Amino acid sequence: MIETLYIEENIRRHPRTEKICKRFPTARKIFCGRYGEVFNPKAQNFRLQKQKPALILAEKYNNRVLPAPPGYGIGAQHNYYFSHMLNCVYDCRYCFLQGMYQSAHYVLFVNYEDFKEDISQLARQSALQTVHFFSGYDCDSLALEPVTGFAEAFMPLFDTLPNAWLELRSKSTQVRSLLKIPPVPRCIVAFSLTPNSIAQAIEYKAPSVNKRIEAMVKLQQQGWTLGLRFDPLIYQTGYRQLYQQLFEQVFARIRPDSLHSVSLGVFRLPEKYFKKMARMYPQEKLFAGSLQIKQGMASYQTTLEQEMLQSCSEMLL
Ligand code: SF4
Repeated sequence: MIETLYIEENIRRHPRTEKICKRFPTARKIFCGRYGEVFNPKAQNFRLQKQKPALILAEKYNNRVLPAPPGYGIGAQHNYYFSHMLNCVYDCRYCFLQGMYQSAHYVLFVNYEDFKEDISQLARQSALQTVHFFSGYDCDSLALEPVTGFAEAFMPLFDTLPNAWLELRSKSTQVRSLLKIPPVPRCIVAFSLTPNSIAQAIEYKAPSVNKRIEAMVKLQQQGWTLGLRFDPLIYQTGYRQLYQQLFEQVFARIRPDSLHSVSLGVFRLPEKYFKKMARMYPQEKLFAGSLQIKQGMASYQTTLEQEMLQSCSEMLL
């Protein structure tokens, strides 16, 4: 699946690098100074690269764990996010990553130990309060788990930090590493869900909604805490019926007592990313609707946004 590996010289002997290289014995290996030399140059073709992305193995020096943007959270006062990876194996048409990055190659930061140290420090700084850490902001948390071993490596840490919670956000069915261990009490495995027909139309390469629910059922059976993320809500004629069907499909299998939280979010993109994505996919219906640009964000008209949020919330309740 990976035909080219770019490897930063400074981590070529890192045990995680060596393990990943062994997994792709026939991949072309190209050594570089810093990953940005490959990832950041302008005028790369995201769409072409997405057909066969390379894997870049790198070290993250700083800004590893960052405060979450305002409004991002599920109930705690202190919210941070971190990304062990940039980019995603799936190809959701609404994904902001394609507007944000020049390249579709995957970057994996192999120095997990430094991330863990930063997380521990932040948790200790607010020892008397709950701190939430979010993974899956610049990637899908679990989609490349067999290669990255990310969840496997981070779970033991969250077992030892009494005030720290981790949300793994995903659309993936790669839950084997979680099923191998007892559930971690302060870990939420949160799945993003969209009605079937919308998922088929715009969440390219992602597992079907049914398969995501199957993965959730396996985790539920083992006692993992789950999250439901209906985000972004996508409009189409008859959306109420589609979302009603989705909620019924989910709650036919998922018990409310397995849930930590359910959240909804409207479709929105920073204006700059939106314009780039609309240029990249000129025939994409998603970008051709009646959208508004307000305070630097592209979104549905405010009345439609509110109507969607309200009716979906009512149906869920
Ligand atoms: S699963 Fe998430 S990160 Fe991956 S392409 Fe879709 S929206 Fe982007």
